Amino acid sequence: RDEPNMPTDNDRPRTFPPLSRRRFLLGTGVAAAASARPAAARSGHLPRGPYDVIVVGAGFAGLMAARQLVAEGAKVLVLEARDRAGGRTLNGDIGGGKVVELGGQWVGPGQTHLLALAGEVGVATFPTYNEGNSLLYYNGALAPYPALGLPPVPPDDLTELLTVGLGVLDPLAAQVSLTTPWDSPGVDVRGLDAQTAETWKLAHFTTAGARFLFDTIVESVFACEPGDISMFQLLFYVHSGGGLLPLISVAGGAQESRFVGGSQLVAVRMAEALGARVRFRRAVRRIRQDGLGVVVETDGRRYAAGRVIVALPPTLCGRIEYDAPLPSLRDQLTQRVPQGSVIKCEAVYPAPFWRSDGLSGQVVSDTGPVKLTFDNSPPDGTPGVMLGFLEGDDARFWGQRPAAERQQAVLDSFARYFGAAARTPTQYLEKDWSSDPWTRGCYAAFMPPGVLSIYGPALKAPIERIHWAGTETAEVWNGYIDGAVRSGERAAAEVIAAG
Ligand code: FAD
Repeated sequence: RDEPNMPTDNDRPRTFPPLSRRRFLLGTGVAAAASARPAAARSGHLPRGPYDVIVVGAGFAGLMAARQLVAEGAKVLVLEARDRAGGRTLNGDIGGGKVVELGGQWVGPGQTHLLALAGEVGVATFPTYNEGNSLLYYNGALAPYPALGLPPVPPDDLTELLTVGLGVLDPLAAQVSLTTPWDSPGVDVRGLDAQTAETWKLAHFTTAGARFLFDTIVESVFACEPGDISMFQLLFYVHSGGGLLPLISVAGGAQESRFVGGSQLVAVRMAEALGARVRFRRAVRRIRQDGLGVVVETDGRRYAAGRVIVALPPTLCGRIEYDAPLPSLRDQLTQRVPQGSVIKCEAVYPAPFWRSDGLSGQVVSDTGPVKLTFDNSPPDGTPGVMLGFLEGDDARFWGQRPAAERQQAVLDSFARYFGAAARTPTQYLEKDWSSDPWTRGCYAAFMPPGVLSIYGPALKAPIERIHWAGTETAEVWNGYIDGAVRSGERAAAEVIAAG
């Protein structure tokens, strides 16, 4: 039901009166909600507010926060700008009742909060296709290697990558605090945060092959270039995901499994369970607060509550107007945390023809625009779906080109790796996340130098009645769907504890 500003479960007027102190007194029953007493008893002599908590954003973070709060008996409203749930997860229709994921999709070991959630809402997983040979395209030549192996750059180069990656980078990452990275004893926090992954690479790797694979790792994990990102944030992120190998691996890593029915289905099921508490096409433009409550404004509507959880990437948090204005550290943080750049491209074929050539469908390449591919076919292998990523500079360049030209360039890349059959898909889907106004880039935010060490404390610290969620605020699996789920749980617990 579409009401201007009041909850569906009372008979208040359908127009919003001028903002008043009394209005701010509404919706302050969070602590009482946590104790699960009836609403009337909770509100005492004050007018009972319509909502205890408003959640901004129906991605995994916002939906999880709402789910937790509702389980605690709170009255919750979720305001979502789009007409759908799932945020950076999105299923694309490939016919026959089958889907392919255009946003976040994989889940792996250690992503226990997402796996538990999927179990609760009845969405199963299946293994990412990872059989046969993968392909390395390097210096103009294709070379096969076992899908469970490592790309065959020259042996000395591979040795350097492993020696530095696992012997230097990983142990250093493990020393970065997940709770207070800016205060990591024994780590040169400011020194590392003063350099990019590019400068660190040039100082630590001498071989072309190791440098190429390091670039590939940065581009595929962060969707930006090594020159864009702070080495210190990279180290934090590696620790957050459990190490370099878990981040980049299929078997035993973050790309190990997919969701039957697509990852967005988990979010859709969460939203269905929340029912009318989730309102779509409600872009939040302004949040006002005083010491007693908040008023959240969308185009033409206002909603009052005790507290608000803003479950968006930082840069989108910064596009909302706040009254009172946010403290400088928080505002400047949101000026400094851009989203990565990625276009996810998928070509559909009657069958995954590369499998009959003994290929896994995975490519690592030094030549764009597509430098990374995966077999993204449905669980039964029909139809065949080839997934290619345009990341970092490739996404920035090709995002400006006409769609037909971009599609041709992507199919040319596929043909370079898998032969002429790749040029004639039956369907082609793509999603440029940077051009989506409600995401503005993926996979997640990354931090340039000088941000995490200085502005990090402002990332998730509540500002009176405004709380922050979203994968960018997660300590574990930051940047991933699992991190988003954890951040929602953390924000909900924070709100309950705040009373
Ligand atoms: P979002 O999903 O961004 O949710 C924020 C919500 O807020 C959105 O629904 C948005 O519409 C809404 N919103 C924005 N502004 C407003 C406003 N003003 N008012 C109201 N609503 C607003 N993660 C993995 O774990 N595995 C993967 O394989 C993986 N691959 C990825 C591939 C791609 C191409 C992309 C795009 C992402 C990928 N990710 C992956 C990352 C993962 O999708 C995200 O970490 C996760 O979905 C973020 O969830 P969130 O709830 O924090 O944010």
